[in-house]
Amino acid sequence: MKTMPPSPSARPAPLEAPAREPAQSISPRPRRPRAALGGAVAGGVLAAALVASQAAEPIPTAARPAAMRLRPAELEPPAEGIKVLVVTGIDYPGHPWQQTAPALKGVLEKDPRLKVRIVEDPEALASPKLALWDTVVLHFMDWEVPGPGPAARDNLKRFVSGGKGLALTHFACGAWDNNEWPEFRTLAGRVWDPKRRAHDPHGTFRVDIADRAHPITRDLEPFETLDELYTCLAGEAPVHVVAKATSKVDRRDYPIAFVLRYGQGRVFHCVLGHDARAYAAPGAGELFRRGIAWTAGVPPKPTAAQP
Ligand SMILES: [Zn+2]
Repeated sequence: MKTMPPSPSARPAPLEAPAREPAQSISPRPRRPRAALGGAVAGGVLAAALVASQAAEPIPTAARPAAMRLRPAELEPPAEGIKVLVVTGIDYPGHPWQQTAPALKGVLEKDPRLKVRIVEDPEALASPKLALWDTVVLHFMDWEVPGPGPAARDNLKRFVSGGKGLALTHFACGAWDNNEWPEFRTLAGRVWDPKRRAHDPHGTFRVDIADRAHPITRDLEPFETLDELYTCLAGEAPVHVVAKATSKVDRRDYPIAFVLRYGQGRVFHCVLGHDARAYAAPGAGELFRRGIAWTAGVPPKPTAAQP
């Protein structure tokens, strides 16, 4: 739960040293007190509904076919293929996860090996059935509600360190507040630091390939996308940047996608994905497909013609 900024004391240099600037809120909205969520103990579903009710745009029912969704008690993986569990259900109100989760599923399944399901309650990470999946995609952020609790956190840590895959999209860099789960900073490689400038104004920018030899980005061409160029990441874990972009605001390079190892597991962290259009960009979809296949320990393979 984001309640207070992290300590401003002595943070090591970030990945590519974004400029130190005054704190900038991602949201123009004042934060609601925790009590506004009915004590915020009702669990992810209620919290998600409340957060979603404040989303800027109405969510079309058609974007949420029931067959895509799992109840947390189910979590049965697909019978075959690379089993990818997208975990969503809470986020900053400007992030329409009800639209972006299906959009992400759609672009991932252009690689027919990837079999994707969506669960709309981050507490599902606590399920013993998590171990049946190959990779987990964090597609949520604990905006004004508690992040998934200790059982979920321990289970996810065990899942990844034991050799499974983890991917993070967009504001999942803030899925847990540092105060509630310090280990998330190591697991994610880099996390949202609200003391930093959040992102360039929403707009078009070019994503450059930082490592054309890496399996995820091998021979991937630079691509244009309409998204937010995040400038807010902090962290110390050793990561390997595979894609980056140059800010139009300060002309510095920022990591867009990077990988790291966590125990025996593989982590792919990509900060693209502000809205459904962001996932529709061919290059972004290709990056997510390849990155998530890589987390599952299978060779990424190009699935779309490059521009
Ligand atoms: Zn965003």
